Amino acid sequence: MFIKRKKIAIVGSGLVGSLLSIYLSKKGYIVEIFESRDDMRKEAFSAGRSINLALSNRGRKALREVGIENKIMSISVPVHKRLMHSISGDLTEQYYGKKNQAIYSVPRKELNCMLMDLAEENGVKINFSNKCIDIDFENTELKFKNSERKKFDFVFGSDGAGSIVRKKMNLFSDLNVYTNIIDCGYKELTIPPSNKGAWIIDSDALHIWPRESYMVMALPNQDGSFTITLFFPLKGKNSFENLKTNSDVNDFFSTKFPDLVPLIPNLSDQYFNNPVSSLGIIRCDSWKVNNFMLIGDSCHATVPFYGQGMNAGFEDCNLINEIINDSSKSSLFKTPVNEFLNKRRLNTTAMQDLSMHNFIVMRDKTGDDKFLLQKKIEALFAEKNPTKWTPLYSMVTFSHIDYNDALIIGKKQEKIMREIMEIKNIDLIWDSQKIQDKILSLL
Ligand SMILES: Cc1cc2nc3c(=O)[nH]c(=O)nc-3n(C[C@H](O)[C@H](O)[C@H](O)COP(=O)(O)OP(=O)(O)OC[C@H]3O[C@@H](n4cnc5c(N)ncnc54)[C@H](O)[C@@H]3O)c2cc1C
Repeated sequence: MFIKRKKIAIVGSGLVGSLLSIYLSKKGYIVEIFESRDDMRKEAFSAGRSINLALSNRGRKALREVGIENKIMSISVPVHKRLMHSISGDLTEQYYGKKNQAIYSVPRKELNCMLMDLAEENGVKINFSNKCIDIDFENTELKFKNSERKKFDFVFGSDGAGSIVRKKMNLFSDLNVYTNIIDCGYKELTIPPSNKGAWIIDSDALHIWPRESYMVMALPNQDGSFTITLFFPLKGKNSFENLKTNSDVNDFFSTKFPDLVPLIPNLSDQYFNNPVSSLGIIRCDSWKVNNFMLIGDSCHATVPFYGQGMNAGFEDCNLINEIINDSSKSSLFKTPVNEFLNKRRLNTTAMQDLSMHNFIVMRDKTGDDKFLLQKKIEALFAEKNPTKWTPLYSMVTFSHIDYNDALIIGKKQEKIMREIMEIKNIDLIWDSQKIQDKILSLL
């Protein structure tokens, strides 16, 4: 019997749309992507939003299950720890998890290009320079800037934080969209490699210069360089608004980040040539209207402080794959889709809350001895009692436990640790059996 294969459109060939297309074409659907930009594979350099991204276990699982993990890992740099730089130049290291657990720094552009190559190898058609400008929700039609209209059986909107699909959905049926643009923006700079193409600071670390209301972060790239991100208030005393001249920039960095200055040539040129971008959260109460569904940043854009935005979007693809039928079945979904979406929304909201919280942790607390001691106590307890305690960072980054469960367990753990940190002379007896027993009794 001839079975008509369903036609699915994806708006946006970013990281999430490209991965989703691979999953869907492997299920037997006819998949077309519409992307507003030109084909970035033909450009010498495209100024993306961030040059590198931290890939962790949730994202890796989604890549593995569609058979492309090894290929993507080949362009990554493993990072096992945080390395905090104090103003006086002291370094404090903190492993992310067990000694063999790492996050992986991946170049955004290469990752996106690889995903698009793999999509095309799997039969996906990517239409570049095709900006979606309007939607007919009754007839499942997309309208493009070039005045074309195209009809599909189902459409996914993976068109990022500024999603047109979400905006049009919201006009068609109120989604109760919540947007929170925070008062901190970011700017990227580069530490170049040495003359021999090597890293000039430890490549096995995400470097942090925590300075309370702001911070700098550095992640390694495979070519020996580091991408530096300055997270800085948009307005106020120490802010983007107040660094106006070359000497403002040089003075500020020399005072606040003295060990960083010799690593960044042409610091003030880089500073003024690179843009300031904003950061925020977007969420909405409904992700599906008729035959249109949102995925990735279009429905759960987040601040980048837990390195989870892309990972969560990849996890979306993996979870959608689990509930989707193959193209020979009459219905697109195996299970009630609203049930799935409600649960996913709860989890991505938790992921956003965790990301906001981690901003404070990275900016204010990674420079605080008491916080670092607390993390050491937790790590020791977790090592001795692996079935009773997984640190919050590990639950989010190295496990597949629901984000919302991680958030709830993390809050309970924090309450226990607050009590532990109040114990007299905790800095002297932190690794004693007494402390281990006390945590056990509080669990
Ligand atoms: C500074 C920074 C650092 C980050 N670091 C990390 C990290 O370390 N780890 C991590 O997991 N996440 C990180 N993220 C988050 C990550 O970048 C996003 O979660 C991820 O890019 C989302 O992918 P997406 O495909 O949903 O959206 P996008 O990557 O935004 O892709 C959307 C695509 O849709 C296209 N498009 C838009 N409108 C239209 C239209 N009308 N018609 C057709 N096409 C359209 C766009 O051109 C684009 O190609 C970071 C984000 C920032 C800002």
